[in-house]
Amino acid sequence: MPLFDTHAHIDLARFGDAAAQREAALRAQAADVCAVVVPGIEPATWASLLAVAERLGREVPAVCFHTALGIHPQVLPDLEASRDGEACAALVTWLDSSAVVAIGECGLDFTPEIEAGAPRTRQIAVLRAHLAQARRRGLPLLLHCLKAHAALLELLSEAPLPPSILHSWSGSPELALRFCKAGHYISFAGSITLPRARRPAESARAVPADRLLIETDSPDQTPFTRRPLRNEPAFLPDIAAAVAAARGDSFARIAELSTANARRVLRLT
Ligand SMILES: [Zn+2]
Repeated sequence: MPLFDTHAHIDLARFGDAAAQREAALRAQAADVCAVVVPGIEPATWASLLAVAERLGREVPAVCFHTALGIHPQVLPDLEASRDGEACAALVTWLDSSAVVAIGECGLDFTPEIEAGAPRTRQIAVLRAHLAQARRRGLPLLLHCLKAHAALLELLSEAPLPPSILHSWSGSPELALRFCKAGHYISFAGSITLPRARRPAESARAVPADRLLIETDSPDQTPFTRRPLRNEPAFLPDIAAAVAAARGDSFARIAELSTANARRVLRLT
């Protein structure tokens, strides 16, 4: 049963060189991963991301490497605030000329370290530029959200928005349901594999079957079962197994519904 990794930063230098990427793609194929979304995090990496996805698609055609472009809130502290307008304008230009399946990674991160370098008002302004493009192009967003769920829900609800993906869900089941009621999808990553992962497991149980997604978020968040290895899409079956265990469903059912959900939200069907 093929699996769909909705979030893997296989383009990042931390993932390894071209040979390492190719080997990881072959292991993904062997693990029955049929598709991977590679999200962008800052303008300087968009060109290489698109090139990596194109090359891997040629080298390992059994796995579809989809792309998304965006500006991650965690990179904002390292970017000049005075150049945010320029970065958001570049996003529009790049989206005009790229065949992406989503916009992101973008979102809000109100953890103290990030807020110290990128205040809330700045993060919200950059996210609004992504929301505007999602609305204009009818594309889903890949959303990062830490300590900012209420603010994010409010922003998403201001005007109709294509159903989007809350990546690497870390919130409560109640919050997950509020995002689902607003039309969005919840994606589970490595934290659900932790032996005492009470909250991710409760959220996985609460999310309706037609809103559930899985991802590796590689190279970060290696599943507990694979530590201390560097994370990669081939470890996605561990996430699917943990979600299946949390819900009392079979692995095959989680694989089937999460892949169908990914194809629906990313408009690949
Ligand atoms: Zn990410």
